[in-house]
Amino acid sequence: DTLDIYTSSKNYPVYIGNEIINQLTEKLEGYSKLYIITDKHIESLYLQTLQKYLPDKETHIFIAPNGEDAKTFSVYEECISFALQNGFDRRSVVLAFGGGAIGDLAGFVAATYMRGIPFIQIPTTILAHDSAIGGKVAINHSLGKNMVGAFYQPEFVLYDVQFLTTLPSREKRSGFAEVIKHALISDSRFLQELMEKVDSLESIPIHDMQKYLRKGMEVKANIVHLDEKERNIRAYLNFGHTLGHALEANAGYGNLTHGEAVMIGIVYALQLSKEVFQLPFSIKEFVSWLERLGYKWRIPANMDYDAVYEWMVRDKKSVSNSPTFVLLQEIGIPILQKVDQAILQKTFHLLQT
Ligand code: NAD
Ligand code: ZN
Repeated sequence: DTLDIYTSSKNYPVYIGNEIINQLTEKLEGYSKLYIITDKHIESLYLQTLQKYLPDKETHIFIAPNGEDAKTFSVYEECISFALQNGFDRRSVVLAFGGGAIGDLAGFVAATYMRGIPFIQIPTTILAHDSAIGGKVAINHSLGKNMVGAFYQPEFVLYDVQFLTTLPSREKRSGFAEVIKHALISDSRFLQELMEKVDSLESIPIHDMQKYLRKGMEVKANIVHLDEKERNIRAYLNFGHTLGHALEANAGYGNLTHGEAVMIGIVYALQLSKEVFQLPFSIKEFVSWLERLGYKWRIPANMDYDAVYEWMVRDKKSVSNSPTFVLLQEIGIPILQKVDQAILQKTFHLLQT
């Protein structure tokens, strides 16, 4: 199955399927050397599988730390040194083999090494259906996540869903939150299908999972096509992220993964949508479904409203110091909306345990 991505800077295909990694060999024909960036988990689980399908070319492999620890200045510098030491040039290609963290790091390495060399995404997480599309690549700064980065599109994305089977439950939950987000902002029938068919994240048939990921990527691709550089509607993809980021940034609030934090933010945004637009939707039914899937949806009790408010104001969508939210007028119809302090606070306390 192939999905074509159109952006103003580049068009490229996303190949998605089960056990399609063998297609890699021919697709790497034109490059001089291969630069694989992956992490420790992926190395031990899948590096040998990947290596079976590499063409006979000079290849160097950089193993980054797992997860978010890969997205640091020091790891980035190591990646650049590694590239220089191994003589990579503009005809070399970077292969990002891993989840969103590896995609973000490797993409930023590719975007900046010698002012940009080609890169390819080979995602291994559910979340990566989101992060591998759209061309945002970045590393973190101590003062903020993703604060140093670029818009840089890959040559192609090869998404082999066979890799998803080993994902820990928490990572499944984290990634699936973005699938649910993509449904909420685009299509009530997609959401309905998910709510009817998905009863546990552990038992989604691989073929259904592939279908959901493809749909999620289509939603993102359509938005990115219209607004690659986030001048307007790309912000819709931030549904649930205004509060989500604030929660995620404060690890003290319970060490939430990105998607777990976003899911709490989604429920908050839905409730705000009810307050502001009388959104016709049963949040009660929705959160009971979330509970069955293992999500927490209440705002943690130890979270202080004023501290969170400060974070939300710092959000990139904020206009003149007043937090702007992506709300839903209806399921599938997002809108950017400034929300009154009083409503923000009242809703916050309503959803707090
Ligand atoms: P990740 O890359 O941190 O991976 C999560 C964990 O799962 C890691 O420990 C990893 O080693 C492990 N893992 C990966 N694949 C596995 C597999 N197949 N089997 C077993 N374990 C596996 O996380 P992620 O959730 O994929 O991505 C999160 C990152 O993505 C964040 O840094 C976030 O900022 C970024 N992100 C970027 C965008 C974007 O548009 N660029 C969008 C959303 C999120
Ligand atoms: Zn997200």
